Amino acid sequence: MKAIIIQERIEEFQSTCREQGLRLTPQKQEIYRVVASTDSHPTAQEIFEEVKNAFPKVSFATVYDNLRKFKELGLVQEMNCGEGCSRFDANMSGHHHVIDRSTGKIMDVILPANQSIPLPKELEGSAIKEIKITYIV
Ligand SMILES: [Zn+2]
Repeated sequence: MKAIIIQERIEEFQSTCREQGLRLTPQKQEIYRVVASTDSHPTAQEIFEEVKNAFPKVSFATVYDNLRKFKELGLVQEMNCGEGCSRFDANMSGHHHVIDRSTGKIMDVILPANQSIPLPKELEGSAIKEIKITYIV
């Protein structure tokens, strides 16, 4: 992850928290920093383990509640990866994912701008808010 991108994400996070009247506690900032500093799409458990390095007394519930709050505020995305597993992503730009079954790694991919995604017949006339594609390799 480029330092400049992490810095931009953190600034955006701070200004959103200020606008929303959310207290910027050092713990909250650390939780966001952990998510924003990686493109590995960590699970809540992985984020919790890393936050614990700086805040040994933090509980999993606190980390998870904050992640849900960040999601509500549009600061992170939550990806459901099946079987009760969810992963968090601070990359809020339109992108899709590739899951590598053999390594379990998730990577971001962007489709070429001129490529349109076909709409299934069942969805004709629906207001599509977002299309998320997950490629599994
Ligand atoms: Zn992503």
